[in-house]
Amino acid sequence: MTDGPSYGFDTLQIHAGARPDPATGARQVPIYQTTAYVFRDAEHAAALFNLQEVGYIYSRLTNPTVAALQERIATLEGGVGAVCCSSGHAAQIMALFPLMAPGRNVVASTRLYGGTVTQFSQTIKRFGWSAKFVDFDDLDALKAAIDDDTRAVFCEAIANPGGYITDLRAVADVADAAGVPLIVDNTTATPYLCRPIAHGATLVVHSTTKYLTGNGTVTGGCVVDSGTFDWSASDKFPSLSAPEPAYHGLRFHETFGPLAYTFHGIAIGLRDLGMTMNPQAAHYTLMGIETLSLRMDRHVENAVKIAKWLEADPRIDFVTYAGLESSPYFDRVKTVCPKGAGALFTFAVKGGYDACIKLVDSLEIFSHVANLGDTRSLIIHSASTTHRQLTPEQQKAAGAAPNVVRVSIGIEDADDLIADLDQALARATQ
Ligand SMILES: *Cc1c(COP(=O)(O)O)cnc(C)c1O
Repeated sequence: MTDGPSYGFDTLQIHAGARPDPATGARQVPIYQTTAYVFRDAEHAAALFNLQEVGYIYSRLTNPTVAALQERIATLEGGVGAVCCSSGHAAQIMALFPLMAPGRNVVASTRLYGGTVTQFSQTIKRFGWSAKFVDFDDLDALKAAIDDDTRAVFCEAIANPGGYITDLRAVADVADAAGVPLIVDNTTATPYLCRPIAHGATLVVHSTTKYLTGNGTVTGGCVVDSGTFDWSASDKFPSLSAPEPAYHGLRFHETFGPLAYTFHGIAIGLRDLGMTMNPQAAHYTLMGIETLSLRMDRHVENAVKIAKWLEADPRIDFVTYAGLESSPYFDRVKTVCPKGAGALFTFAVKGGYDACIKLVDSLEIFSHVANLGDTRSLIIHSASTTHRQLTPEQQKAAGAAPNVVRVSIGIEDADDLIADLDQALARATQ
């Protein structure tokens, strides 16, 4: 397929990055299950290693199946390039890696996936990096938190788990004014519901484990670059703007222009950190993305029905779903994710912690798992699982208080899901 900017999302989710296989004509993207690639001759090998010619060397760096997925996700997000990784958490480290150095920090939203809070507040300290958490609805606090050592601003478009929508444009403007890139985790929205680059994001990260794959089969992640950030505008990003000692003094920005960040991610990030996606995982995710828009429409339709039913139920204290008119973020949906607020939300059960545990144990269609974005409906009691490492204050700030459960609404029959919730709530609150 030629690159037609006029193609719609439904066409691109099937065709972007995929061409009939040059060797066999295979219509579907083959799974290139190989570690290495034969060089034509010594000169070709040297050109590849010098990054003078784009090609395949070794599958820790690049692989044709993974490359097709990278191109597809980059296209759907409106970016210039993407690097796929072994998981969403790997993608987050890979996203920060070219930007950070010991002593540098990332300013992150308080409303994040629990695993990201732990990764940012604890694990990245081992690299000498740190994170400052602020409420991204308080733009003055965000501005105040950004200091001379800040190298990125990080948030989720639709924040997991609380049904919070970030005002991406406002946050991007603050990051821009400070000369640092905005990284948006778009996992729970997907590019079908939200395109952060169009709202000013520099980089987009994904856990492809979730909606992009969509069937709960493989873990994966992706970092997409908008190609719009001027890495040479200050001396803050020497890995991209100055001679990079890890690649015999190559100046990535001068050499690769808008593709500098993506090339750095492959040539240094994947080469030295090795958080590579394997071609089998890329295959499952390519298959999933082919139906992304169809699934997301159904996820959203079901989520709206179920959230409304729950909100009207006397056994429920509150529902935090931005697709409900009662949500303080309902108006933001129209600008940030006009096709819907996703299918992930929380609700509070009267009866608190114990009732939540009983509810989770009584459901039949909903599975009790630490995952989201599957075709199947999923539920988790965050306070006793994904968010149990956090303090009660952090739990509450993240929308995961003890009386709250999180659901990821699947694409089954909405009436069956409602009946299941009804019988389980009866047992939980009797
Ligand atoms: C799951 C998830 C991650 C981490 O992704 P993995 O693939 O599990 O490593 C990051 N951010 C969000 C919003 C997620 O839902």
